[in-house]
Amino acid sequence: MFFGKKNLLSDISTAIIERFEDGVVAIDSHHCIVFFNEGASRIFGYAPEEVVGKHLNILLPERFHLQHDLMIEEFGASGDLVKKSTRRSRQIFGRRKNGEEFEASIFIVKAGADKLHPGYAAVVRDISEDKRTEDELMRLASTDPLTGAFNRREFKVLADEESMRAHRYNRPLSIMMLDLDHFKRLNDTYGHAAGDKALQRFTTLCCNALRTIDIFGRWGGEEFVTLLPETDAEGAAVIAERLRKLVSQSMLVFNDQKISMTASIGIAQYRAGELTVEGPLSRADSAVYDAKKAGRNRISVYRND
Ligand code: GH3
Ligand code: MG
Ligand code: MG
Repeated sequence: MFFGKKNLLSDISTAIIERFEDGVVAIDSHHCIVFFNEGASRIFGYAPEEVVGKHLNILLPERFHLQHDLMIEEFGASGDLVKKSTRRSRQIFGRRKNGEEFEASIFIVKAGADKLHPGYAAVVRDISEDKRTEDELMRLASTDPLTGAFNRREFKVLADEESMRAHRYNRPLSIMMLDLDHFKRLNDTYGHAAGDKALQRFTTLCCNALRTIDIFGRWGGEEFVTLLPETDAEGAAVIAERLRKLVSQSMLVFNDQKISMTASIGIAQYRAGELTVEGPLSRADSAVYDAKKAGRNRISVYRND
């Protein structure tokens, strides 16, 4: 069969769009779906006949319905075929047939000849896997692999953010340094693997006992830190004493051996105008030293004069 050049191009583009890896969804001026390619079927889990004729909302989580309508209206109000601000793709949430939500990047173009009642076509790409990878990389970069606690670098970033907030609203902020007692001896007696388990157990105990607003990190080795927002030194001492008791009463069973551990905890409250962690941390460290000197398994508060 002979095709004119225009027909040929149009047939080629239809064939490409239908088999396109990305999803292509076209809607009419009433936002009803008029075209749904193979890629869209793969992404959303619907066969074309299940969605063609239905409102676009079927592909979106309910809480985004209004927002999406507004986005399309705003887009339609512009005269451009491809609106300048949407030349870059934007990220939205889609909903698959099985109800699962996923993150997608979409690129919208106006489609159809009717200028007064334009339709739209969107190229949809499922980026949930990329997002998961990105989240996982972020997690790996900000946490300590053995315990899952924030690593030193991330703790510093979070602590500095929190100290800015405390400063702006004139709220108290405290920090604790927690150092496991005689940890070298624990390693020497039960082995390094037992020591690792003890560090993990210690982290779990602390994280379960702390409030959701508290920030717990591994400073290094057997030293941990906790930032306590909205808390003065007295309040921090109550929390520290609770942790100390919990740790000293817990028992780790490793290779049929019962292992107990204790920690010494130093506390310091941020001074007015203190915006970085170094000062309070060095005072908390000196309080740990006092607790060790006084016999370990105890808490000590650095008193700001
Ligand atoms: P103190 O009561 O004075 O704090 O004594 P300590 O033995 O806890 O302190 P020291 O600083 O002498 O020893 C810390 C030990 O912690 C030595 C090191 O081998 C051990 N350690 C540090 N990181 C790890 C780790 O990731 N796993 C294990 N198993 N041990 C670790
Ligand atoms: Mg130490
Ligand atoms: Mg120690």
